[in-house]
Amino acid sequence: MSAIPTENRTAEIEAFLAREGEATAYEEKVALARDVLAWAATTYGESLTIASSMGDEILLHLAGTTAPDFDVFFLDTGYHFAETLGTRDAYEVMLPLRIRTVYPRESVARQDIRFGERLHARNPDLCCRLRKVAPLNAALQGYAAWVTGVRRADAATRTDAQLIEWDAKRSMIKINPFVGWSHDEVDRYAAEHGVFLNPLRELGFASIGCEPCTRPVGVGEDPRAGRWANSDKVECGLHI
Ligand code: SF4
Repeated sequence: MSAIPTENRTAEIEAFLAREGEATAYEEKVALARDVLAWAATTYGESLTIASSMGDEILLHLAGTTAPDFDVFFLDTGYHFAETLGTRDAYEVMLPLRIRTVYPRESVARQDIRFGERLHARNPDLCCRLRKVAPLNAALQGYAAWVTGVRRADAATRTDAQLIEWDAKRSMIKINPFVGWSHDEVDRYAAEHGVFLNPLRELGFASIGCEPCTRPVGVGEDPRAGRWANSDKVECGLHI
């Protein structure tokens, strides 16, 4: 991610970034995540959207209990687990979120006709571009800022992520309320608040993506080791 351009870098953003650098206790991190979401809702209003894969349940919970009517978009790649679609449906009725489902330009069947079946197994980068990155870019058009569940602890590719940063590819502000949270802190928040979790978690899915490209992980294994496990791919391209 790039530095926030001067004209977009307000005193409030500076203060949040300084606070994030000092927040080490769990309670401070929870308060900061809630405050940054409340600030984002007030500052950007209708020009703010959350991107959720329904595998970032604490983001949905915190947003839905901080301010009503957050705009949330969910990318339905056509390859999701039934449990993930059910999680989206559950959150639609549990919290005051405006969840809109975004689809790729083509169905899986049409993609199969153009590129052959199981493109995800032969060229996952192209499959992700068609089914995730292109619809994400279209969904973000017209917004000034977006919110994600990205954490530095997720992957080596995310260690320089910031609480508030500049998404230079899309020329917009990107807000990552949990950027400095550990896996244990995510689990603690979920347990303390009774957060509804994607049922796949009970089956060992620590990081949840499309069904053909996700497997459960064993105890002690890297949580993202179950994503594209048969290749060296580690990111779908939404956040890099
Ligand atoms: S995660 Fe797999 S199935 Fe989903 S879009 Fe990427 S390559 Fe295709």
